Amino acid sequence: MRLLHGRPLAEALNARTRDRIADLVAKGTRPALAVVSVGIDPAASTYQERLAKSGKHLGIDVRVEALLSGATSKDLESRLRALSADPAVHGILLLTPLPAPLDERHAVEQIAPDKDIEGVHPKNAGLLAAGHPRFVPSTAEAVVELLRYHGVNMRGAKATVVGRSPVVGKPAAALLLHEDATVTIAHSKTPDVAAMTRAASIVVVAVGRAGFLTGDMLSPGATVIDAGINVTPTGLVGDADVESVSRVADALSPVPGGLGAVTTALMLRNVVTAAEEQTP
Ligand code: NAP
Repeated sequence: MRLLHGRPLAEALNARTRDRIADLVAKGTRPALAVVSVGIDPAASTYQERLAKSGKHLGIDVRVEALLSGATSKDLESRLRALSADPAVHGILLLTPLPAPLDERHAVEQIAPDKDIEGVHPKNAGLLAAGHPRFVPSTAEAVVELLRYHGVNMRGAKATVVGRSPVVGKPAAALLLHEDATVTIAHSKTPDVAAMTRAASIVVVAVGRAGFLTGDMLSPGATVIDAGINVTPTGLVGDADVESVSRVADALSPVPGGLGAVTTALMLRNVVTAAEEQTP
């Protein structure tokens, strides 16, 4: 079984992003990303640190906007509106899930669509659903870019996406459809998920459960993209049961080492695209 590594693609994407940043800096603009979080979530702060490090490496300013855990929806929304109006900020990333009782749906509506580098504003989600993707969630975009990079044909292929969250499963399905795949979405109410995955040559799994996808759920020669991130006593693993999947599948994206680095590279590329669009 082939492993669909993401690192070489991430490096190629970053090289192009670096060139575009050099052009922007020559025009007097350094791309800037504001990462907004609420409360102290260790997972979120690790993620922020990783983003800040990758951004700095490329020449993007990553500004961390951490609101205290007692912040209200009104506080969060006014911060997002202020960042949306700030010409020194080109991209805004809101870390989710938000602590209760904060209202995520109304919060994302405060992000200017032109700065919505994760494609969570209803305008950008609507463009994707209508078949005109602009800014899209970067994990979903990484699914399609990784398949393309490794030469996996999507046009006319049967693809099954397990998971329908607005940040991973649903946009991944929409992008695969945009690539002319024939797409099925399975979720927790799907009676026979294995029948759906066995019928597909491309399986994207975004459930969040270690060992969820087993070899008997695949047809021989399938390509599996694993979006799962699960912390186990033995370390970080995806949703695929690697041992049984490797006996049936032709290719699998590893966790870690698959989608992760590509996702970060695409998100930072989106910041640069936003900065270019906002630079006269
Ligand atoms: P999520 O919001 O919890 O969504 C999980 C999806 O899996 C839901 O659509 C759920 O169906 C479905 N599901 C749960 N149990 C199932 C079952 N037994 N059979 C079939 N489908 C089932 O999670 P997420 O944010 O999409 O993340 C999924 C995984 O990707 C996680 O490991 C996460 O860490 C990782 N990831 C997340 C992000 C992100 O930005 N959030 C980015 C990269 C990777 P229902 O809709 O019916 O509940």
